[in-house]
Amino acid sequence: MRRVLIVGGGSAGWMTAAYLNGALNDRGNAPTVKISLIESPDIPRISVGEATVPSIQHVLSVAGLDETEFMKAADATFKQSIRYQNWLHNDQSFYHHPFSRYRIQPIDRTGRAWLNSDRSVPFMETVSAQPVICDMARAPKMLGRWDMGAPLAYAYHMNAQKFADYLRDFSTARGVSHYLENVTDVEMRENGLIKSVRTDRGNVHEADIFVDCTGFRARLIGETLGVGYEDYSRWLMCDQAVVGRIPYDQFYPGLIRPYTTATALSSGWAWDIPMQDQRSVGYVHSSHFISAEEAEREWRAYEGPHAKDIETRLIKFHVGQRQKAWQGNCLAIGLAGGFIEPLESTGLYLSDLGAVMLAEHFPYTDDMLEAMAFRVNRVISNRYFEILDFINMHYCLSRRTDTAFWQEVQKPERITDRLKAKFEYWKLKPPSASDFQDQSFPGGAGQIDRVVPGCDPRSPVDTAGLWNHESYEAIMYGMHFCGEPLAPPSTDAPKTRVMPAIIERL
Ligand code: FAD
Repeated sequence: MRRVLIVGGGSAGWMTAAYLNGALNDRGNAPTVKISLIESPDIPRISVGEATVPSIQHVLSVAGLDETEFMKAADATFKQSIRYQNWLHNDQSFYHHPFSRYRIQPIDRTGRAWLNSDRSVPFMETVSAQPVICDMARAPKMLGRWDMGAPLAYAYHMNAQKFADYLRDFSTARGVSHYLENVTDVEMRENGLIKSVRTDRGNVHEADIFVDCTGFRARLIGETLGVGYEDYSRWLMCDQAVVGRIPYDQFYPGLIRPYTTATALSSGWAWDIPMQDQRSVGYVHSSHFISAEEAEREWRAYEGPHAKDIETRLIKFHVGQRQKAWQGNCLAIGLAGGFIEPLESTGLYLSDLGAVMLAEHFPYTDDMLEAMAFRVNRVISNRYFEILDFINMHYCLSRRTDTAFWQEVQKPERITDRLKAKFEYWKLKPPSASDFQDQSFPGGAGQIDRVVPGCDPRSPVDTAGLWNHESYEAIMYGMHFCGEPLAPPSTDAPKTRVMPAIIERL
């Protein structure tokens, strides 16, 4: 039986344990993979990571979790969109990036139609009912009709601490071994693979495959194997967050919003994530432009007088990714493998991608390690580039000039070369489905390779991955990127009002 040892029991560690157990060990048959997890009793989890993307449903389903039970256990609520406020100008304007959009067949001309219209209806409202449903605080599916599926795509907001606890109880009840110990030493085999880890209890845990889920510490992939970290702070300048929670018994805003709010502030942006009993509010900011004390004051001013006595904590982070997520017989999943700031809630997504990739490319023998690592590293690193560009776009399309931070993030040197190439291309034509068809198969055309991270203009389009043309259009047109050569505002072309497609359909 192949032995997998996961070091670290945060969301990444427990998601990996639950997913591998569900994907590799047939329920009802003897397990083929022995999964163990070591978690430090002293080092707390980071315990942010409360907003997710719809791929989380795949993880829950493969692990064998029941949605209602999970939602109860993790204080989860539905998330259908991110509502961006004050990103274009500091004027209370907003737009939605929802998960569902009405698919226009056989050819999607909605972007071009909107660009050629008078643009009096926000783009997203012409193609999706979800912004309106979100602003009405409705759910993506009907009570009592859970078995009928949901007409609208959704993810969850949840308490990250409770989520990890729930996955722990679920996984240990299904055969995953759990040790509360601190890893103190790592022993290597002669061939450069990890042999075992030693803990402060004097125990030695041997395994065939090690998964590093030790968070920013990166105890195995970084400290032991010395795999370097690529820094992306040149393109994403935020490096810390002031985080606090506001229980509803102290302040209840009147409804539980089925979306995440991301409000641009003076030197970054604030998330507002509703759970069942409280909201999480975090001000992600750049320490180059605002001190932690000033950021905390701005956090309190943003939240309002009821936040006067709420405790906050400061979390520092370093945006980037490991040069290799998988080295030898060790794969880093979660923060140990890298982190892109949480604007589009991609932290847990990257953990779930790591778990899915490991299950799909599971090395049943050591001979398989190199080939599986090559493929998984390529997919994961391309996904980081994709996320980097997508988040970068939110900043550089802003037209805010009211603070030094907003002036800085719009400078050309703050935009990745890949994103610049995409913008040039999408000035000529709106994004469309085939722009995202290039796969990153070895030797495949259009792959973004790791030659010059963030600076490789060979591919103006992305590998097929997390986002498609619909997601890019949501942000680009939400931020009024109007592709000047395509539809200059000064042309005499007749401007029509675009009717929301969903209303036309009804
Ligand atoms: P951690 O939670 O830090 O867990 C590390 C684990 O390793 C702990 O159990 C610790 O005890 C253990 N450990 C460490 N050293 C040792 C050792 N020597 N021996 C044994 N055990 C050890 N993601 C989202 O999806 N949505 C969001 O909205 C979001 N917001 C975020 C906001 C901020 C400011 C930050 C920084 C991150 C955010 N993330 C978000 C990312 C998300 O928090 C993480 O991806 C997720 O929590 C996974 O963390 P982790 O398990 O890798 O690390």
